[in-house]
Amino acid sequence: MTTRRKLIAGNWKMNGLKADGLALAKGLADKLKAGPAPACDLLVCPPFTLIAAVVDAVAGSTLAVGGQDCHAKTSGAHTGDTSPAMLADLGCGYAIVGHSERRTDHAESDAVVKAKATAAQAAGLIAIVCIGETLAQRDAGQTMDINRSQLLGSLPDGATPENTVIAYEPVWAIGTGRVATPAQAQEVHAAIRAELTKKLGGEAAAKMRILYGGSMKPDNARELLALPDVDGGLIGGASLKVADFWGIAESC
Ligand code: PEP
Repeated sequence: MTTRRKLIAGNWKMNGLKADGLALAKGLADKLKAGPAPACDLLVCPPFTLIAAVVDAVAGSTLAVGGQDCHAKTSGAHTGDTSPAMLADLGCGYAIVGHSERRTDHAESDAVVKAKATAAQAAGLIAIVCIGETLAQRDAGQTMDINRSQLLGSLPDGATPENTVIAYEPVWAIGTGRVATPAQAQEVHAAIRAELTKKLGGEAAAKMRILYGGSMKPDNARELLALPDVDGGLIGGASLKVADFWGIAESC
Protein backbone atom coordinates (compact mmCIF):
# COMPACT_ATOMS: atom_id res chain seq x y z
CA MET A 1 0.00 0.00 0.00
CA THR A 2 1.56 3.25 -1.16
CA THR A 3 1.50 6.45 0.82
CA ARG A 4 2.71 8.55 -2.06
CA ARG A 5 0.54 11.61 -2.66
CA LYS A 6 0.38 12.42 -6.33
CA LEU A 7 1.89 15.62 -7.69
CA ILE A 8 0.52 17.33 -10.78
CA ALA A 9 3.09 19.86 -11.98
CA GLY A 10 2.59 22.37 -14.77
CA ASN A 11 5.61 23.44 -16.81
CA TRP A 12 4.58 26.59 -18.61
CA LYS A 13 7.90 26.75 -20.49
CA MET A 14 8.48 30.09 -22.29
CA ASN A 15 4.77 30.93 -22.36
CA GLY A 16 2.77 33.62 -20.68
CA LEU A 17 2.77 37.39 -20.47
CA LYS A 18 1.49 39.10 -17.34
CA ALA A 19 -2.20 39.09 -18.16
CA ASP A 20 -2.62 35.50 -19.31
CA GLY A 21 -0.13 34.06 -16.79
CA LEU A 22 -1.91 35.72 -13.89
CA ALA A 23 -5.33 34.71 -15.19
CA LEU A 24 -4.16 31.09 -15.38
CA ALA A 25 -2.65 31.12 -11.89
CA LYS A 26 -5.65 32.87 -10.37
CA GLY A 27 -8.05 30.53 -12.14
CA LEU A 28 -6.36 27.52 -10.54
CA ALA A 29 -6.04 29.14 -7.12
CA ASP A 30 -9.74 30.10 -7.16
CA LYS A 31 -10.74 26.54 -7.99
CA LEU A 32 -8.60 25.22 -5.14
CA LYS A 33 -10.09 27.71 -2.72
CA ALA A 34 -13.66 26.91 -3.84
CA GLY A 35 -13.07 23.16 -3.46
CA PRO A 36 -13.39 20.29 -3.44
CA ALA A 37 -9.65 20.08 -4.07
CA PRO A 38 -8.34 17.19 -6.16
CA ALA A 39 -6.53 14.39 -4.30
CA CYS A 40 -3.06 15.55 -5.28
CA ASP A 41 -0.53 18.33 -4.78
CA LEU A 42 -0.68 21.00 -7.50
CA LEU A 43 2.32 22.96 -8.73
CA VAL A 44 2.85 25.52 -11.48
CA CYS A 45 6.26 26.47 -12.87
CA PRO A 46 5.87 29.78 -14.74
CA PRO A 47 8.66 31.51 -16.63
CA PHE A 48 11.03 33.40 -14.30
CA THR A 49 9.48 36.71 -15.31
CA LEU A 50 6.13 35.75 -13.78
CA ILE A 51 7.16 33.89 -10.64
CA ALA A 52 6.86 36.79 -8.20
CA ALA A 53 3.49 37.89 -9.55
CA VAL A 54 2.16 34.32 -9.59
CA VAL A 55 3.28 33.73 -5.99
CA ASP A 56 1.31 36.84 -4.97
CA ALA A 57 -1.70 35.87 -7.08
CA VAL A 58 -2.06 32.40 -5.54
CA ALA A 59 -1.43 33.42 -1.93
CA GLY A 60 -3.93 31.79 0.40
CA SER A 61 -4.36 28.74 -1.84
CA THR A 62 -2.50 25.43 -1.76
CA LEU A 63 -1.12 25.93 -5.28
CA ALA A 64 2.68 25.63 -5.12
CA VAL A 65 5.01 27.58 -7.39
CA GLY A 66 8.36 26.48 -8.78
CA GLY A 67 11.11 27.41 -11.21
CA GLN A 68 11.74 25.66 -14.54
CA ASP A 69 15.49 25.62 -13.96
CA CYS A 70 18.11 27.06 -11.62
CA HIS A 71 21.83 27.65 -11.49
CA ALA A 72 24.11 25.46 -9.40
CA LYS A 73 25.58 28.45 -7.54
CA THR A 74 23.97 30.73 -4.97
CA SER A 75 25.21 34.00 -6.48
CA GLY A 76 27.99 35.41 -8.61
CA ALA A 77 29.04 36.28 -12.15
CA HIS A 78 26.50 34.22 -14.11
CA THR A 79 24.71 36.63 -16.42
CA GLY A 80 21.10 35.77 -17.09
CA ASP A 81 20.94 32.93 -14.59
CA THR A 82 18.77 32.49 -11.52
CA SER A 83 19.97 30.83 -8.34
CA PRO A 84 17.97 28.43 -6.19
CA ALA A 85 18.23 30.90 -3.31
CA MET A 86 16.53 33.52 -5.51
CA LEU A 87 13.71 31.10 -6.31
CA ALA A 88 13.26 30.24 -2.65
CA ASP A 89 13.33 33.94 -1.79
CA LEU A 90 10.41 34.53 -4.18
CA GLY A 91 8.36 31.82 -2.51
CA CYS A 92 9.09 28.85 -4.76
CA GLY A 93 8.99 25.37 -3.29
CA TYR A 94 10.29 23.44 -6.30
CA ALA A 95 12.76 23.65 -9.18
CA ILE A 96 12.63 21.51 -12.31
CA VAL A 97 16.13 20.47 -13.36
CA GLY A 98 17.37 18.55 -16.39
CA HIS A 99 14.30 18.98 -18.57
CA SER A 100 15.10 17.51 -21.98
CA GLU A 101 14.75 20.96 -23.54
CA ARG A 102 17.50 22.21 -21.19
CA ARG A 103 19.63 19.15 -21.90
CA THR A 104 19.26 19.79 -25.66
CA ASP A 105 19.13 23.60 -25.93
CA HIS A 106 21.80 24.25 -23.29
CA ALA A 107 23.84 21.05 -23.54
CA GLU A 108 23.24 20.22 -19.90
CA SER A 109 24.97 16.99 -18.88
CA ASP A 110 23.96 14.68 -16.05
CA ALA A 111 26.75 16.22 -13.95
CA VAL A 112 25.32 19.71 -14.47
CA VAL A 113 21.82 18.49 -13.64
CA LYS A 114 23.11 16.82 -10.49
CA ALA A 115 24.86 20.03 -9.41
CA LYS A 116 21.68 22.04 -10.00
CA ALA A 117 19.54 19.54 -8.10
CA THR A 118 22.01 19.52 -5.22
CA ALA A 119 21.98 23.31 -5.08
CA ALA A 120 18.20 23.43 -5.26
CA GLN A 121 17.93 21.08 -2.30
CA ALA A 122 20.50 23.06 -0.34
CA ALA A 123 18.28 26.12 -0.81
CA GLY A 124 15.31 24.21 0.60
CA LEU A 125 13.65 23.50 -2.74
CA ILE A 126 12.32 20.16 -3.92
CA ALA A 127 14.22 19.22 -7.09
CA ILE A 128 12.21 17.65 -9.91
CA VAL A 129 14.90 15.71 -11.76
CA CYS A 130 13.93 14.93 -15.37
CA ILE A 131 15.18 11.96 -17.34
CA GLY A 132 14.04 10.24 -20.53
CA GLU A 133 15.12 8.58 -23.74
CA THR A 134 14.85 9.86 -27.32
CA LEU A 135 12.97 7.96 -29.98
CA ALA A 136 16.23 6.83 -31.58
CA GLN A 137 17.38 5.46 -28.24
CA ARG A 138 14.06 3.65 -27.70
CA ASP A 139 14.17 2.21 -31.22
CA ALA A 140 17.72 1.02 -30.54
CA GLY A 141 16.56 -0.86 -27.44
CA GLN A 142 18.45 1.50 -25.10
CA THR A 143 15.51 2.82 -23.07
CA MET A 144 16.40 1.20 -19.77
CA ASP A 145 20.14 1.86 -20.08
CA ILE A 146 19.61 5.54 -20.90
CA ASN A 147 17.17 6.12 -18.07
CA ARG A 148 19.34 4.25 -15.59
CA SER A 149 22.44 6.21 -16.50
CA GLN A 150 20.63 9.58 -16.51
CA LEU A 151 19.05 8.77 -13.16
CA LEU A 152 22.27 7.70 -11.48
CA GLY A 153 24.20 10.58 -13.05
CA SER A 154 21.67 13.27 -12.17
CA LEU A 155 20.49 12.22 -8.70
CA PRO A 156 22.05 14.24 -5.87
CA ASP A 157 23.92 12.29 -3.19
CA GLY A 158 21.57 13.59 -0.50
CA ALA A 159 18.38 12.70 -2.37
CA THR A 160 15.41 11.82 -0.16
CA PRO A 161 11.68 11.45 -0.89
CA GLU A 162 11.20 14.83 0.79
CA ASN A 163 13.65 16.80 -1.36
CA THR A 164 13.49 14.93 -4.69
CA VAL A 165 10.90 14.04 -7.31
CA ILE A 166 11.85 12.12 -10.46
CA ALA A 167 10.12 12.92 -13.75
CA TYR A 168 10.27 10.29 -16.48
CA GLU A 169 9.69 12.13 -19.72
CA PRO A 170 10.25 10.17 -22.92
CA VAL A 171 11.57 12.87 -25.25
CA TRP A 172 9.50 11.51 -28.15
CA ALA A 173 6.32 12.16 -26.17
CA ILE A 174 7.03 15.76 -25.13
CA GLY A 175 4.88 18.21 -27.05
CA THR A 176 4.24 15.66 -29.81
CA GLY A 177 0.77 14.41 -28.87
CA ARG A 178 2.30 10.92 -28.85
CA VAL A 179 1.87 9.58 -25.34
CA ALA A 180 3.58 6.53 -23.85
CA THR A 181 1.26 3.55 -23.54
CA PRO A 182 0.42 2.58 -19.97
CA ALA A 183 2.62 -0.51 -20.40
CA GLN A 184 5.58 1.56 -21.61
CA ALA A 185 5.22 4.07 -18.79
CA GLN A 186 4.80 1.46 -16.06
CA GLU A 187 7.78 -0.55 -17.33
CA VAL A 188 10.14 2.42 -17.09
CA HIS A 189 8.69 3.73 -13.82
CA ALA A 190 9.09 0.31 -12.20
CA ALA A 191 12.69 0.12 -13.46
CA ILE A 192 13.40 3.59 -12.05
CA ARG A 193 11.99 2.56 -8.67
CA ALA A 194 14.12 -0.58 -8.74
CA GLU A 195 17.22 1.57 -9.34
CA LEU A 196 16.18 3.91 -6.55
CA THR A 197 15.82 0.90 -4.27
CA LYS A 198 19.40 -0.16 -5.01
CA LYS A 199 20.72 3.35 -4.49
CA LEU A 200 18.62 4.69 -1.61
CA GLY A 201 17.10 1.60 -0.01
CA GLY A 202 13.59 0.21 -0.22
CA GLU A 203 11.94 2.57 2.22
CA ALA A 204 13.11 5.75 0.48
CA ALA A 205 12.42 4.32 -2.98
CA ALA A 206 8.89 3.37 -1.98
CA LYS A 207 8.21 6.93 -0.86
CA MET A 208 9.82 8.82 -3.74
CA ARG A 209 7.45 10.25 -6.31
CA ILE A 210 8.04 9.43 -9.97
CA LEU A 211 6.05 11.61 -12.39
CA TYR A 212 5.24 10.80 -16.00
CA GLY A 213 5.59 13.60 -18.54
CA GLY A 214 4.85 13.63 -22.26
CA SER A 215 1.56 14.72 -23.85
CA MET A 216 -0.49 14.01 -20.73
CA LYS A 217 -4.00 15.40 -21.24
CA PRO A 218 -7.34 15.14 -19.44
CA ASP A 219 -8.38 12.28 -21.74
CA ASN A 220 -5.33 10.07 -21.13
CA ALA A 221 -4.40 11.09 -17.58
CA ARG A 222 -6.68 8.71 -15.73
CA GLU A 223 -5.13 5.49 -17.01
CA LEU A 224 -1.57 6.78 -16.64
CA LEU A 225 -2.17 8.07 -13.12
CA ALA A 226 -3.75 4.74 -12.13
CA LEU A 227 -0.49 2.86 -12.82
CA PRO A 228 1.17 1.54 -9.66
CA ASP A 229 4.46 3.42 -10.11
CA VAL A 230 3.15 6.65 -11.65
CA ASP A 231 2.88 9.25 -8.90
CA GLY A 232 1.73 12.23 -10.88
CA GLY A 233 2.45 14.15 -14.03
CA LEU A 234 4.72 16.85 -15.40
CA ILE A 235 2.50 18.66 -17.86
CA GLY A 236 3.52 21.08 -20.60
CA GLY A 237 0.88 22.06 -23.14
CA ALA A 238 -2.12 21.01 -21.07
CA SER A 239 -0.94 23.12 -18.12
CA LEU A 240 -1.67 26.31 -20.04
CA LYS A 241 -5.45 26.07 -19.74
CA VAL A 242 -7.22 25.99 -16.38
CA ALA A 243 -9.78 23.42 -17.55
CA ASP A 244 -7.18 21.02 -18.96
CA PHE A 245 -4.82 21.20 -15.99
CA TRP A 246 -7.69 20.90 -13.55
CA GLY A 247 -9.09 17.98 -15.54
CA ILE A 248 -5.77 16.15 -15.17
CA ALA A 249 -5.64 16.93 -11.45
CA GLU A 250 -9.15 15.58 -11.03
CA SER A 251 -8.02 12.30 -12.59
CA CYS A 252 -5.87 11.57 -9.53
C1 PEP B 1 7.01 18.90 -20.59
O1 PEP B 1 7.35 19.94 -21.11
O2 PEP B 1 7.60 18.51 -19.57
C2 PEP B 1 5.92 18.15 -21.20
C3 PEP B 1 5.64 16.96 -20.74
O3 PEP B 1 5.26 18.75 -22.24
P1 PEP B 1 3.89 18.23 -22.93
O4 PEP B 1 2.94 17.88 -21.83
O5 PEP B 1 3.44 19.36 -23.76
O6 PEP B 1 4.24 17.03 -23.73
